[in-house]
Amino acid sequence: KPTLYLVPTPIGNLSEFPERAIQVLKEVDHIAAEDTRNTIKLLNHFDIHTPMISHHEHNINIAIPKIIDMLKAGENVALVSDAGYPAISDPGAELVKAVIEENFNVVPISGCNAALDALVVSGITPQPFVFYGFLAHDDKTKKKELEANKNITMTTIYYEAPHRIKKTLTLMLQILDDRSIALCRELTKKHEEIIRGHISEILEIVDELKGEMVIVVEGATEVEEEVVFEQSITEHVDEYIAK
Ligand code: SAM
Repeated sequence: KPTLYLVPTPIGNLSEFPERAIQVLKEVDHIAAEDTRNTIKLLNHFDIHTPMISHHEHNINIAIPKIIDMLKAGENVALVSDAGYPAISDPGAELVKAVIEENFNVVPISGCNAALDALVVSGITPQPFVFYGFLAHDDKTKKKELEANKNITMTTIYYEAPHRIKKTLTLMLQILDDRSIALCRELTKKHEEIIRGHISEILEIVDELKGEMVIVVEGATEVEEEVVFEQSITEHVDEYIAK
């Protein structure tokens, strides 16, 4: 059965590219890439000569039918993004849905993902966790999103760009309070650094921080919910006694 392979690519260190991923990229008929100029460097490095087609968030209306036609013609396709897993804060989810709808195979290849690397190294309770990805860029929507997340008791993982990190941590401090976080930057690269502490402490040094970043935030404490629960039980008991 024709297959779409979801192939993760390194998030920094090129030696973290599984043999199976390289093999699949060599064997498929086409590679659908988020940015062909970026992926060609990776393909050259690993001596992969498979033809590429472009698949990014602004051309999916054309790219998805094209890929479905390739599968209908009996060809296999691999999807890659610029780094890490396709479909995780990257294009791919729409294509996966369309391929499943058309009854073709979808096969994941295991590999790199910035969120999971950050989660396991954070020192913050790893499960249950929520992967949130990027918050909105504009402050008003970002505030609303953080308000909506502030009672989540699970560890939450955010992606953030270096030029927005100061504003995001400032809003987190205001809305989520001074929780423990781990700011994980440049994972698997030469300047990899994991900074663990309270939001206020990391804000003091944030101006010096550059590179790609993941923020792992500890969950909200459950105290308030327990109080509400206990109150409601007490009320019920009081009502019962009164009757
Ligand atoms: N698909 C990717 C994955 O599976 O991790 C994520 C792509 S998303 C467009 C890019 C974001 O991922 C960055 O802004 C950063 O938050 C995070 N990221 C990617 N590479 C990273 C790295 N080496 N270190 C820290 N964060 C990274």
